[in-house]
Amino acid sequence: MKLAGAKPVMLVLFVDALGWRLAGSRAEFAAPLAHRREIATILGFSSGALPTIFTGRLPREHGRWLMYRRAQGQTPFAGFGALKLLPPRLRRSWRLTQVLTRAVASRVHGYFNLYEVPRDELPAFDLAERDDIFRPGGLPGDSLWDSLDRRDLRWQGWNWRTPEAVALRDALAHLRAGDRDLLFVYTADLDALLHHEGSTGAQVKARIARYDAWVREAFAAAEAAGRPLWLYMLSDHGMVDVTEHVDVMARVDALPYRRGRDYLAFYDSTMARFWWRNKVVREAVRSVLGAESRGRWLTPEELRAAGADFANAEYGEDIYLVQPGALIVPSFMGSKPVAAMHGYDAAHPDMTAMLASNREVPPGVKHLTDLRAFFEREIDAQHAGVA
Ligand SMILES: [Zn+2]
Repeated sequence: MKLAGAKPVMLVLFVDALGWRLAGSRAEFAAPLAHRREIATILGFSSGALPTIFTGRLPREHGRWLMYRRAQGQTPFAGFGALKLLPPRLRRSWRLTQVLTRAVASRVHGYFNLYEVPRDELPAFDLAERDDIFRPGGLPGDSLWDSLDRRDLRWQGWNWRTPEAVALRDALAHLRAGDRDLLFVYTADLDALLHHEGSTGAQVKARIARYDAWVREAFAAAEAAGRPLWLYMLSDHGMVDVTEHVDVMARVDALPYRRGRDYLAFYDSTMARFWWRNKVVREAVRSVLGAESRGRWLTPEELRAAGADFANAEYGEDIYLVQPGALIVPSFMGSKPVAAMHGYDAAHPDMTAMLASNREVPPGVKHLTDLRAFFEREIDAQHAGVA
C-alpha cells in the first residue's frame, strides 16, 4: 500500500471583474500562481457569467443572462404599478427604494438591485435569479455545487452575502485549521471599485495588492496546517474604462411613441432592449438608433453565437449594444456616469477573464464554460491523491 501524503486543500478566490489585462499589468502579482490563462467571457453581465461558470453551460441553456427579463406570469414586482400615482420626486426617493427593496428581498433570494428602474414600470419585468446561485440546488439544472455535494467533500463558500474582509479572514482560518478540503471565496468588491474609479484608481491598486498579499498568506496558512495548497484565482469578465456617454433614451423618447404603451424597453448600461407592440414602432426605433454610430443592433446570428438566443425573447426581441468604452447615460442602471463598465462585446481584450493557479491549467481551458469541468477534474485529482 502506498503511503499517502497529506490531502491537498483547494482554495478558489473568485474576483469579479479582475480582467486578464488588469491582472497582467501588475508585475509580480500573485507570483506563486505561475500557470495563467486568458479565459474568454460571454456577452452580458455577471448574472449570466456566474451561472455559465457554475453549470458549464451557455445562457441559452441555463436560462440566465441579464438581471432583468420580461415578466412571463409571476413577477416579484406585482402591485408596483400603483406607484405611478405617487409624485415623481417621491417615486425616486431613497426611502421608497429601501421599502421596495425589502419587499422584493422577501420574495427573491438571489442578487438584485432596483438601480433606477422606473418603479412603476417594474411589473413588466422579472428577476431571473431567484435563489442562492452559490449553493446546491440554487441554479436551473446541475451545477458545480451539486457535484460538490455528491462527492461528500468538506467544503465551505463565501459570496457577496459576507463582507470581503470577513470571507478572506475566515478562509485563512480554515486553511490554518486544515479542516476543509475546498474553500471558495467570491468577491464583487473589485467590480464596485472599478466602476467607481476606473482601472487606474488608487483603491483599485490597493485592493489588487491586498489579493496579492492574501495569496502569500494562504500558502503560509496551508503550510502551517501541513497540507499542500492548490490555489486558483479566477474572474468572470474584465472591465473597460468608460470614454464616452451615449444618450440612447433621448433618441428613442423623441419619437412619437410611448414606452409601456407602444413598446417595452429596458435600458441596461451597455444595452437597450426592446419588445414591440407593432412593426411600425419597431422600424422607427431601429432606424433612429441605427443612426447612432457608437452602437449597433445585435443580429440573431450574433446572439446565437454568443449563446444568448432565447426562444421566448424574454431578454429582448431586439437588442442594441454600445461599443466598448461607451456608456448609456442615463439608463435604468443610473442617471450618473461611472468610470468603467463591462457588458460589451466579449471579444474586446479588456473584457477577457482570467484563471491563475499553482496547478497546471490544461490547454483546453479557455472559456467560462470550461471552468466547471476543470474544477471537477481537479477535485478528482485531489481525491485520487489520498486513495
Ligand atoms: Zn460590474
